[in-house]
Amino acid sequence: MPVHVCICCGAQFPDTPSPPDGCPICQDERQYVRQGGQAWSTAEEVAATHHTRVEEVEPGLLGVGVEPAFGIGQRALCTGGLLWDCIAVLDDAATRRLIDAGGVDTIAISHPHYYTGMADLAERLDARILLHEADRQWITRPTDRIELWSGDHHVLGPDLELVRLGGHFDGGTICLWRGGAEGRGALLTGDIVQVVADHDRVSFMYSFPCFIPLPAREILRIRDVLAGLVFDRVHGAWWGASVQDDAKAKVLRSADRYLAALR
Ligand SMILES: [Zn+2]
Ligand SMILES: [Zn+2]
Repeated sequence: MPVHVCICCGAQFPDTPSPPDGCPICQDERQYVRQGGQAWSTAEEVAATHHTRVEEVEPGLLGVGVEPAFGIGQRALCTGGLLWDCIAVLDDAATRRLIDAGGVDTIAISHPHYYTGMADLAERLDARILLHEADRQWITRPTDRIELWSGDHHVLGPDLELVRLGGHFDGGTICLWRGGAEGRGALLTGDIVQVVADHDRVSFMYSFPCFIPLPAREILRIRDVLAGLVFDRVHGAWWGASVQDDAKAKVLRSADRYLAALR
């Protein structure tokens, strides 16, 4: 039976004779059901019509994306045995490339919009999947490989730490990579901290496609958490979406700008 895939967000659903009634991730007020209604593909069809792009983002960090773009269009990142965030398809060449680069033992995902093909990728890479327990209701294709974590910090090793930032989703998570930015520290943020068009500022939203901002108390709380981290670079959810230098000051200024606009 086919594994059903939501065309709009890329989430996979269990193999059943026909697709489910709808995709709860897209029906949620933060996302949207596309014009024309819910549409489905299958994991097999998506794999046959897409390939995986793997490219160095900075020394020690690979970007892993899907071409042509599928679903929300994010790319994942890979460093030190961690695949950060997820994509719909990991083809054979990309799987070999990640294994040659040291392999992946953990897939950690910022929030449900990027859960996508996590069950398939975990099998391919023989990895566990780490998700924040606050977002467990959005798991559309359960697998024994999923491990839920709770609280605000989860240390993966001396170089990598997951930090719950919330905001966009209750379990919204970023990853602090201490070795990033030539040792000055980099944040891998998905769209929990969204790098905006000039790549010099960031934003924070409850919903990006529906333009729903976060309240001031949330921005203040998020600002406090980020102020306590050591980093100089931010890698967001898309190819090229990075704040390359002086990122901490730029992130804090962006939060202040947001608060000023809400006043
Ligand atoms: Zn969906
Ligand atoms: Zn999102």
